[in-house]
Amino acid sequence: MILLVVIYLILQVAIIRMNQTRWQVFNGVFMSFQYGVALLMILCAKKRGSILGLVLMGIGALSTMRAAIMGHTLTPLPGLFNAVFYMITLAILGHFYQKREREAVTDVLTGLMNRRGLNRLLRSKVEDETPFRLFYICLDNFKAINDSYGHAYGDELMRNLSARVVERIGERGVVARMGGAEFVIVMNEKDVSLEDANAMLDEIREKTTLESEGARLECYMTCFAGVSSFPKDSRKPEDLIKYADLAMAKAVALKQKNVRVFTQELADGVNSQLEIEAIVKDGLENDDFFLVYQPQYHIGGKTLRGFESLIRINPLDGRRLSPAQFIPIAEMSDLILQVDDYVIRRVLQEFKPIIEERPELIVSVNVSSRNISSKDFVERIQDFLNETVFPPKNLEIEITEYCLVDSMESTIENIKRLREIGVQVALDDFGTGYTSLNYLSKMPINLLKIDKSLIDDIETDKKRSDFVRAVVSMGHLMGCEVISEGVENERQLEVLLDKGCDFVQGYVWGHPMAYQAAKALAFGK
Ligand code: C2E
Ligand code: CA
Ligand code: CA
Repeated sequence: MILLVVIYLILQVAIIRMNQTRWQVFNGVFMSFQYGVALLMILCAKKRGSILGLVLMGIGALSTMRAAIMGHTLTPLPGLFNAVFYMITLAILGHFYQKREREAVTDVLTGLMNRRGLNRLLRSKVEDETPFRLFYICLDNFKAINDSYGHAYGDELMRNLSARVVERIGERGVVARMGGAEFVIVMNEKDVSLEDANAMLDEIREKTTLESEGARLECYMTCFAGVSSFPKDSRKPEDLIKYADLAMAKAVALKQKNVRVFTQELADGVNSQLEIEAIVKDGLENDDFFLVYQPQYHIGGKTLRGFESLIRINPLDGRRLSPAQFIPIAEMSDLILQVDDYVIRRVLQEFKPIIEERPELIVSVNVSSRNISSKDFVERIQDFLNETVFPPKNLEIEITEYCLVDSMESTIENIKRLREIGVQVALDDFGTGYTSLNYLSKMPINLLKIDKSLIDDIETDKKRSDFVRAVVSMGHLMGCEVISEGVENERQLEVLLDKGCDFVQGYVWGHPMAYQAAKALAFGK
């Protein structure tokens, strides 16, 4: 830029010197060069360049005008017109480039900074050495709201929430939208405490009222956040984004309401993620998986309803790995499809002889959300049933509410088709997700599984037990039967019986057991 200014000034001096000489005829040529230099300035630095170019040309025009007035001559007039014309085109070009520059770093929907703008901002903050915190926030149920109420509401909601966050932060920080329902907030460390950030999350979760096409909608957001810090966690902008994102993913997995702070252990966990993925792959190849079965009982009379199959892996180097550890990692890739296929096939093979003896028993299989929404899921189940000649009515597929958040339409479609071919469908972990009644009523499920967390203090907490009564009634109204899982003691059993629950599953009446033990239980031995 300095070089361009110097060239410009040299040209200006040359023009002044040429005046009143026989070289004057070349003034126009030099002025065109000056115009070219001013253009280059705009290209080099959009805003600064166009201001500088305009100021320099303005000074040039003024000196030409002065020469005309002082010399009482009209000779410099064409040059003056030229300069004004150049200045107008420069101003238009400068404005155009600045607008394009702004658009390139702005999110179209919300007007917030976009990912590109954020990268630029982070680079400059790192250069300035200002300690800052980077919050990565995701709106967890945004997709579900978008799917059920339409994109007009979704867009309105996004704008509304963005405005709310921007207003809350004011001058203290910058908000960027990373695409979808993910945001990043960058704030100088001295301007934000973690308590402050938690309060901000609570505000995002507050009720939002939206208006679209004359209709009003009230909704509550669920959001999670992770935070990384500069320079403590890294000096690289891309790492800082990745680390905060990682911490946020952990908050989502643990359903942690407060901001999750990034720690090096979290990053190390990523390595162990790769390790676990390798163990699952090897386990599938070497047939290291096996199944255990947990009995389910009719609550009144303790007669056997059936079993839930639960996957296990042979201990590796004496290390036991639970499905709660390896299933979520398998779910991050298509590996889960192979695991689920393995389980379904094996369950059907193992339960065929049991069903032949006890045709009223049901065996349930957990299926991941990635699988239940896949196009050929029902065909695959049908193939497995045909292969083993297994009666569909004795098979139950367990899905969770999160299946719906991922892809509601294909999931509901597959549930309907499963029911059509006679397979039963249970909604697992009920009470931990955010499914609206609207979704639930669309799903032809036959069993609602109340999550353990809802019944944990049911024997002492009156509010909880009233809530469970309401959930049971709701399940019945939807035409489902209701089972409680994780039932551990007799008191819980009594309350559940009183609240009208149909079935129970839990340590109180039976731990998950090996296949042979389950077979013996089914055969009454
Ligand atoms: P889930 O489907 O909610 O399974 C219930 C979990 O609670 C099981 O843990 C079970 O052993 C445990 N449990 C049962 N009764 C009680 C009780 O009375 N008290 C307590 N504290 N716990 C009880 P597990 O076997 O470790 O499975 C954990 C999760 O892993 C399952 O949760 C399910 O989401 C997933 N999973 C297990 N097997 C499979 C599978 O074959 N395929 C898929 N996709 N996921 C599976
Ligand atoms: Ca389950
Ligand atoms: Ca469950």
